[in-house]
Amino acid sequence: MAAAPAFTTTYAQLPALLHHTVTQDAASNPSWVLRNEALASQLGLDVDWLRSPAALQALAGNTPLPGATPLAMAYSGHQFGGFSPLLGDGRAQLAGEWRAPDGTLHDLHLKGSGATVFARNGDGRATLSAMLREYIVSEAFAGLGIPSTRSLAVVATGDPVYRQKKEPGAVLTRIARTHVRVGTFQLAAANRDRDALEALLQRELARNFVSPPAGLAPPRHFLRSVIARQASLIAQWMCVGFIHGVMNTDNMQVAGETIDFGPCAFMDRFHPQKVFSSIDQYGRYAWDKQPAIALWNLTRLAESLLTLLDDEQDKAITIAREELALFMPAFEQHFEEGMRAKLGWRGANADDGERIATVFTHMMRGNADFTLIFRRLTQVAGGADEAMLTPLFATQEEAAAFLAHWRERAGPAPDVNAMRRANPVYIARNHRVEEALAAANAGDLAPTHRLLAALATPFSAQDGCDDLEQPPTDEEEVRQTFCGT
Ligand code: AMP
Ligand code: MG
Repeated sequence: MAAAPAFTTTYAQLPALLHHTVTQDAASNPSWVLRNEALASQLGLDVDWLRSPAALQALAGNTPLPGATPLAMAYSGHQFGGFSPLLGDGRAQLAGEWRAPDGTLHDLHLKGSGATVFARNGDGRATLSAMLREYIVSEAFAGLGIPSTRSLAVVATGDPVYRQKKEPGAVLTRIARTHVRVGTFQLAAANRDRDALEALLQRELARNFVSPPAGLAPPRHFLRSVIARQASLIAQWMCVGFIHGVMNTDNMQVAGETIDFGPCAFMDRFHPQKVFSSIDQYGRYAWDKQPAIALWNLTRLAESLLTLLDDEQDKAITIAREELALFMPAFEQHFEEGMRAKLGWRGANADDGERIATVFTHMMRGNADFTLIFRRLTQVAGGADEAMLTPLFATQEEAAAFLAHWRERAGPAPDVNAMRRANPVYIARNHRVEEALAAANAGDLAPTHRLLAALATPFSAQDGCDDLEQPPTDEEEVRQTFCGT
């Protein structure tokens, strides 16, 4: 029997406003659904322990992790633009923190582990399909190399959860560099709790950021760093056609990892205003709105930090404005760089932004599949017949216009290696994810394992996985996603 690993809960040392105790709300009959042993190894977590009955009980939320004091984190949040002063982990808990051999600290967060003081009217539970969905999509992000929280395990609780229908319940173990969100800073600011603000700032700086360069005050350094990470992150989402779906301030993590995979989706056919979430009626979080929404959220972070940025409010506002002004240019630079790699365009030209916009216009007019276009284009750049692109567009004319426009900038020798690294063969396509979840609900995990295996190395084609590359047929297409939580 492996010795139990030693976890900690440094978050409990932060001011009381920021957390609340939780009771272990028992799962009646926990059983393993998925364990991410590769991730455990990366984190230096003993795989034998992860396989043990003790780990099963801990990751079901029945017993505390050795050495840790589970707690629910408190936070505020702007949800679809409206401010909720107190949200917090309603059905989740910070189960413990783990120090990896490289010295980095990682949160283990249980989602679906029972109602906390923040549950309001919620049942504190999560469905197996929602937790598997988060597992699959977050691991797809890891495969793509895009910063994201990870998934260590899914445990079935043995208890039913009632949503539109009766469903099996489950608990996800989420791993993150932090669970501090923009909304956590908003909570401290809304309560005028300067100690809490300072404590959060110091904690995040020490844990997830390099020391401020000489002459830069730590709060400003923090704001600048968070803005820089989000600019890069949103650009990476958009380069793979990802739509987060609920970019509320409580779902924006300050270390720059993608968090909270609710009604998110990778789009199939390209449309810049594409929305999947059933609750996003006005397209607030559409694909092409994501940079503006990220900036809106970061403005809420800057507001929360004002009292730390300078004692004089006018000066603080000036600092905040100067930092926020860096977001859009940084985003555009990352997005153009990312798109140039996808298109195999060498060097950087002043008119690349416009050229990229024209690429998207052709894709939109052609009603073309986002992922497959770039995959086929990579093959064409590598010498394949360009006729393979034509069937992806609604009309031959649109395909020809797209190719001509691409070639004009790509020239005779596009950077095909950059294209191979930037254009995934496999994404977590909605219809395949839904198919895997339906099978899992019926007790068959084989499609989930197969999908996870392909998504772990998404840039290389794998034998027998052609179907995972294909866009959905009209019948298969998933048009809406639900919090379905
Ligand atoms: P989300 O939409 O997942 O970001 O959740 C928004 C807020 O609602 C968070 O405070 C969650 O903890 C809470 N919440 C969502 N579902 C439940 C549930 N079933 N029970 C209790 N709280 C929930
Ligand atoms: Mg959330």
